[in-house]
Amino acid sequence: GSGILAGKRGLIMGVANNRSIAWGIAKAARQQGAQLAFTYQGDALKKRVEPLAKELDAHVVGHCDVTDGATIDAVFAQTEAALGTIDFVVHAIAFSDKDELTGRYVDTSEENFTRSLAISCYSFTAIAQRAEKLMPNGGSLLTLTYYGAEKWMPHYNVMGVAKAALEASVRYMAADLGPQNIRVNALSAGPIKTLAGSAIGDFRYILKWNAYNSPLRRNTTIEEVGETAAFLLSDMSRGITGETVHVDSGYHIVGMKNPDAPDI
Ligand code: NAD
Repeated sequence: GSGILAGKRGLIMGVANNRSIAWGIAKAARQQGAQLAFTYQGDALKKRVEPLAKELDAHVVGHCDVTDGATIDAVFAQTEAALGTIDFVVHAIAFSDKDELTGRYVDTSEENFTRSLAISCYSFTAIAQRAEKLMPNGGSLLTLTYYGAEKWMPHYNVMGVAKAALEASVRYMAADLGPQNIRVNALSAGPIKTLAGSAIGDFRYILKWNAYNSPLRRNTTIEEVGETAAFLLSDMSRGITGETVHVDSGYHIVGMKNPDAPDI
C-alpha cells in the first residue's frame, strides 16, 4: 500500500464516538495505510465503537478500563493475537469528576485527584509497559494533552495538573525507551467539542475565545489533529521524541486578547 503508515500496525485507545479525537487519528492513520485495532470502555461504548472500527477494517480487541490492569493485559494479548507485533499506540484517555471541572482547583477532593491522575496520567505509563513488549523493532507512543497543563485555564482544574504530569511522563518515558527506538510524544490539541470536552465548565465560551484569539482564527478539528498524529506515528517524525506538539491554531503563542475580536 501507499501512505506514510503503509505496513504499520497500531492500537487506538479512546474512541467513544465519531467526535472523539481518537477517531480523527484512526481515520488519518488508516488513510495513510495503517492496520488498526481498537479498544472500548464498557458495553455502552462497544456498540458505538464496533461500527466505527468496521468502517476502517479495524479489529476490536475488547474492553479496557485503565483502572483495571487485567483489562489492559487482556487487550494487549488480543492485539498481539490480531496484529502480531505493533508499531504504535494512541492513548486518548482522560477522566475527572464533572463536578470538579468547574469552580476552584483548590477545592479538589483527594479521591478525585487520585482517580483523575490514575486515569489521565498513569494509564499512559501502564500502557507503555505493555506496548514495549510488542515493539521489538521500535515504535511510536502518542498521548493527548491540553494547554491547561502549561497555563492556568478556567475550570480545567485537576485535569491541568494531570496533563502537566502526563507531559512530564512523556519526557521520562522518551528517555527510558529511546535506546529501543521507541519514541514517546504528546499532541496538545486546541479545545474540541467531544464527550470529554463537554464536561468542562463554560466549554462553549472556551471554544469561542480560542477561535477569536488564535492566530488561525478558528477552532481545531479532529481531522487536523489526526493528520499531525499520523505524522508523529510515522517514520517521517523519526527524529522527534519527548515532545509536546501543539495542534491548536497557534493559540499557545498568544500572550494577549486579539483587540479585533468581537465580544463573546
Ligand atoms: P472522548 O470523550 O471522545 O474520549 C475520551 C475517552 O476516554 C473515551 O473513549 C473514554 O472511554 C476514555 N476513558 C475515560 N476513562 C477511561 C477509563 N477508565 N478506561 C479506559 N478509557 C477511559 O473525548 P476526547 O476529547 O476525544 O478525549 C481524548 C483525549 O484528548 C483526552 O486525553 C483529552 O483530555 C484530550 N484532549 C481533549 C481536548 C478537547 O478539547 N476535547 C483537547 C486537548 C486534549
